Amino acid sequence: MTASIPPQQNTFQRLEKLGEGTYATVYKGRNRQTGEMVALKEIHIDSEEGTPSTAIREISLMKELSHENILSLYDIIHSENKLMLVFEYMDKDLKKYMDTRGNQLDYTTIKDFMHQLLLGVAFCHQNRILHRDLKPQNLLINTKGQLKLADFGLARAFGIPVNTFSHEVVTLWYRAPDVLLGSRTYNTSIDIWSAGCIMAEMSMGHPLFPGSTNEDQLQKIFRLMGTPSEHSWPGISQLPGYKPDLPVYATQELSLLFPRMNNLGLDLLNRMLQLRPEMRISATDALHHPWFSDLPQLRYQMRQRQQRQQ
Ligand code: ADP
Ligand code: MG
Repeated sequence: MTASIPPQQNTFQRLEKLGEGTYATVYKGRNRQTGEMVALKEIHIDSEEGTPSTAIREISLMKELSHENILSLYDIIHSENKLMLVFEYMDKDLKKYMDTRGNQLDYTTIKDFMHQLLLGVAFCHQNRILHRDLKPQNLLINTKGQLKLADFGLARAFGIPVNTFSHEVVTLWYRAPDVLLGSRTYNTSIDIWSAGCIMAEMSMGHPLFPGSTNEDQLQKIFRLMGTPSEHSWPGISQLPGYKPDLPVYATQELSLLFPRMNNLGLDLLNRMLQLRPEMRISATDALHHPWFSDLPQLRYQMRQRQQRQQ
């Protein structure tokens, strides 16, 4: 029997930079022993404080989570001034994927990606983990067309900062209204809101609610979904960020924004984009929504088309 050798930093050859995110710089890497491609995520750590042990514990938990739609974490390499996470290698994130396709995804791809996204989210939620920061940049696609959630657990380990380490503002576009209103009792429903925003973005080719400040973000949401009140959302006036003089908007018809989406798709989207968190559909229920019932058939047709083109 061979004892497994603990991975060392020099096991991996660092190749080109793949991207920068909220906490880290990500490089392509190659395992010198196996030749396998990986993604090396170097977490930026405050040199004075070092790595909090709670963060290491949170991240270690991520290693145990194994699911087809969750990015695999292979190893954690912790040296005195650096924390490096070794992940499976993916082709690109969903934002770049949409960009390379001129922001026009076909209907089957949208449905297929939404289904995979919800499978990953349901798995997280079953394990009592919230993602908290679902957005196209945190969804990775490989060459086989698999979609995987990246970046979860880190928000819990490090908190969601206002700025990234490279001073970019952390986006508010996918943030649920209850969080924007300062609720601290949020739950799994915040990820469903983000998933709804992503479904809308894949269909429209641009972000649904591209807000610039907390207030602007809420206004963009209310302009489409209607301004909530104590009547439509009991308890809203108790939230720390609630202002009684909110401009009053009527609920708009989603079908006007998504002329190519059928009624089943609009129904699912509407159930994910409920302002009141308790009203939002769960990931498991969303997976059983009839919008997905023709997915096996659509996938089959897509494969046939691809084979004919080859
Ligand atoms: P952060 O936690 O700092 O936000 P992310 O994990 O979101 O870091 O990674 C930042 C970017 O790096 C992603 O948006 C993506 O473009 C790229 N990236 C991250 N992980 C991988 C991976 N496994 N394979 C390929 N690219 C990746
Ligand atoms: Mg990220």
